[in-house]
Amino acid sequence: MIDLKGKRAVVTAAADGIGRATAMAFAEAGARVLATDIAVDRLAGLSAVEGIDTAPLDVRDGEAIASLASAHTETDILVSCAGMVFHGGLLDTPAEAWDASFALNTRAAYQLMQAFLPGMLARGGGSIIAISSVASSVIGVPNRCAYGASKAALIGLVKSVSADYMTKNIRANAICPGTVDSPSLQQRISAQGDYDTVRKSFIDRQPMGRLGTPEEVAQLAVYLGSDAASFVTGQAMVIDGGWTVM
Ligand code: NAD
Repeated sequence: MIDLKGKRAVVTAAADGIGRATAMAFAEAGARVLATDIAVDRLAGLSAVEGIDTAPLDVRDGEAIASLASAHTETDILVSCAGMVFHGGLLDTPAEAWDASFALNTRAAYQLMQAFLPGMLARGGGSIIAISSVASSVIGVPNRCAYGASKAALIGLVKSVSADYMTKNIRANAICPGTVDSPSLQQRISAQGDYDTVRKSFIDRQPMGRLGTPEEVAQLAVYLGSDAASFVTGQAMVIDGGWTVM
């Protein structure tokens, strides 16, 4: 039986999508969860859920991360979930989009891990989970230049932290989802033109014939956060409905 009883977790980007589903699944598994997001209004509903507290956090703000971490030194599980997609190949990716992608998809995770790791070390262990993507070092995906590069760097960060701290009972893993039906995906579909046609093109690249759900990804996060995964570290775990099999 996998559970998170007695564990304290911090989840970023928890107002919507994968982050929200993760916060809910963690609480259901018995963890005490601090759900954070830049969108304070959309976090509000979560604070009514048993086991969940909420706090505002823009993960691009290093000082805010440091202050949150110093107020929550008893954190056992950190889920770095915030991320952004910039649509474009190499020639369509201005430096500003590259920098914004790395700031949110990579630098924020580096700062979160750096801020929360000392507390985990002092407590004798912890589990760090970063939400990467199959569009990373796993596979190249068209028009995901800055996204794929920054999500690949995130996997490198996870492996590095894993290598440095595995003897201290710290585990660090990346989750690499395929296409997941979240609010940001729906916005990206709407932005690209005819909704049904674009949505079908996203579904067509999933061999199972459907998109993933945030709840399915959240279950993998529950496993990685739990003691059931005590021998798992440094991995980029793919959850993609078979996208990368074919
Ligand atoms: P989502 O749009 O459903 O939710 C994103 C959340 O991030 C929102 O609540 C938003 O307010 C928050 N956010 C945005 N900027 C922030 C910031 N600076 N600080 C704190 N919070 C911020 O997103 P999602 O689709 O569930 O994606 C979550 C993660 O999963 C991202 O890292 C994304 O790259 C990754 N991912 C998503 C998919 C997918 O298909 N949806 C696939 C692979 C990986």
